[in-house]
Amino acid sequence: MSVGECISARKPCPLDDTQLPKLCDISGPARCIAPLVKQNSITRVVAHQSPLDDPLIMTALVQSLSLSTVNHTVLELDVDASDYGILQRIGEAAPALTSLKLLEVQPSDTVIRAFVCTLLFSDECQQNRRAWKDGITWGRALCNLSQLVHFALRTSLCVALYEALLVQQWGGGKGTPHPALWCILLWHSFGNRSSCISIWESSHATWVKNNSFANPDQSLFNLM
Ligand SMILES: [Zn+2]
Repeated sequence: MSVGECISARKPCPLDDTQLPKLCDISGPARCIAPLVKQNSITRVVAHQSPLDDPLIMTALVQSLSLSTVNHTVLELDVDASDYGILQRIGEAAPALTSLKLLEVQPSDTVIRAFVCTLLFSDECQQNRRAWKDGITWGRALCNLSQLVHFALRTSLCVALYEALLVQQWGGGKGTPHPALWCILLWHSFGNRSSCISIWESSHATWVKNNSFANPDQSLFNLM
């Protein structure tokens, strides 16, 4: 089931407390589907947030996943670009995931910080801080999702200079390769002229870039 923008953004959603026992697949605004995820046997979840949403709405959605009694297998989420704990929380809430897509969004305060950093010409700028840049820690968190076979990330940062190292670290390296992960899809420079999707696949714990697409649109990412 796909849910559109809710007309009741500032009121209780009409879907609250709805029981849909045969529903297994849902996509839509996080504020509408969080209660449904908690109360129904939904295994495939795609949740997005709008700029006007409460910044904590994704926290509420992940909590709903953890309170549900089913094993979630597919998850796509908008995430705060500066949220360092998101992957750990997903691993605790939905440890049986086989596919995970994370789409970075910039919270309004990050946009303001980015503007200030631009004024200060600071290289250590908050706008460039990302949890996934710590590839070894990120790789450990991905390992907690022991059944994950497909991982995708969309980011506005350009990673071209260190992409191969990053993917290798996410995959656990040769010493402790991830038990199941074999495909990583990385859409970097999103929103910029050098926007590119890279598809990496693992063969005996070695990660190889199998394909790339310059200036892709969202529909291509959705198909993958
Ligand atoms: Zn709604």
